[in-house]
Amino acid sequence: YYDVLIVGAGHAGAQAAISLRQSGFEGSVAMIGDEKDPPYERPPLSKEYFAGDKSFDRILIRPATFWGERNVDMLLGRRVKSVDAVGKFVTAGDEEIGYGKLIWCTGGNPRMLTCNGADAANVHAVRRREDVDAMMAKIDSINHVTIIGGGYIGLEAAAVLSKFGKKVVLLEALDRVLARVAGEELSLFYEAEHRAHGVDLRTGARMDCIEVTDGKATAVLMQDGERIATDMVIVGIGIIPETGPLIAAGAAGGNGVDVDEYCRTSLPDIYAVGDCAAHANRFAGGAQMRVESVQNANDQAKTAVAHIMGKEEAYDAVPWFWSNQYDLKLQTVGLSTGYDQAILRGDPAARSFSVVYLKGGKVIALDCVNMVKDYVQGRAHVLAGAALDQAQLADASVPLKEVGL
Ligand code: FAD
Repeated sequence: YYDVLIVGAGHAGAQAAISLRQSGFEGSVAMIGDEKDPPYERPPLSKEYFAGDKSFDRILIRPATFWGERNVDMLLGRRVKSVDAVGKFVTAGDEEIGYGKLIWCTGGNPRMLTCNGADAANVHAVRRREDVDAMMAKIDSINHVTIIGGGYIGLEAAAVLSKFGKKVVLLEALDRVLARVAGEELSLFYEAEHRAHGVDLRTGARMDCIEVTDGKATAVLMQDGERIATDMVIVGIGIIPETGPLIAAGAAGGNGVDVDEYCRTSLPDIYAVGDCAAHANRFAGGAQMRVESVQNANDQAKTAVAHIMGKEEAYDAVPWFWSNQYDLKLQTVGLSTGYDQAILRGDPAARSFSVVYLKGGKVIALDCVNMVKDYVQGRAHVLAGAALDQAQLADASVPLKEVGL
């Protein structure tokens, strides 16, 4: 039995344990995680860790000894199979572990292809350390890599692999990359950057299946009959939130476990936090959604812990996110979902610019490429939801903090 049991030893789980001890919680705390490692940062898996620029030790969220020092029991390499919300225990392996409060921080599993060949040995996702280690073990012996999906993970992987000198084909089914998360200016900019770095990036690309020889993917076959020979396939087409045991226990939810403003699920004493939690986000006009970012994982964990500590502090954090590709640092603040106008600041050709997203004339988000100043100064405008002077917004020589109404 633990007073607080955290399921999932990722970003949200780590932050929940850290916040509990920081806020003076003296009860017993344990974290159950199905990976063998203590919590580590996931973003470097498609960036510095994949590129070999950071060792695994450097991406640990805290040094391995931290958890014991804080009296947090780490039950690693164990998967929670079921939750009994009435008896208040979880089942992991043969063991039943009781809880006072449960914080569900299980993230999600990569969505995989369903076509023929999708389960071949050299078809990889990028979600866990072991995924990247498996790719790295083969990297020297391969030349052609096909990436399925032009989201941030696929694009970041393409940048790393082209740096390694690999021949990369990136297939995006929609008519532009990043279509779900960013405006057209940003998509076109990144498409051009990748092509300039030698990536064969194709939009509107319809794959049919994967050709497999001796258990290995040898080509991606397209619907139009083209055969793209490949030595490795990387799939970056999103995640499916890991909610099964909670939903089976009766929690409300669909795409994610539904939570209220304190990250409470519909089940007593059970919170859900991070990629797996669907919440009403003010920065998306109150729409029920999951936000897949380190910011959201950390801030929701803090909200849940505050509530456990008796403080009702509704989740209301400004969303932010980043992506590194080549020498380009993208920083995003706010959520651009549902924007009806996009204003460009600066010149993409100069590789330093921002896109300001408006809805009903009000600033809802910014994407800033190598434009740290706009990112920092734009935050206040996103928070205020201000209707700003559009001519000034479009003029990169006017600092964002000086743009008037
Ligand atoms: P996770 O960090 O995924 O942790 C969940 C943990 O729970 C995992 O270890 C999982 O194995 C474990 N688990 C699941 N089910 C069970 C179970 N039943 N029992 C026990 N354990 C279980 N975000 C950014 O903000 N910026 C970025 O640049 C960025 N880049 C990214 C790059 C990659 C390659 C990936 C994969 C993600 C990236 N993200 C980025 C997203 C970010 O990493 C996630 O939003 C964040 O990890 C969410 O934290 P979480 O705790 O909800 O889930």
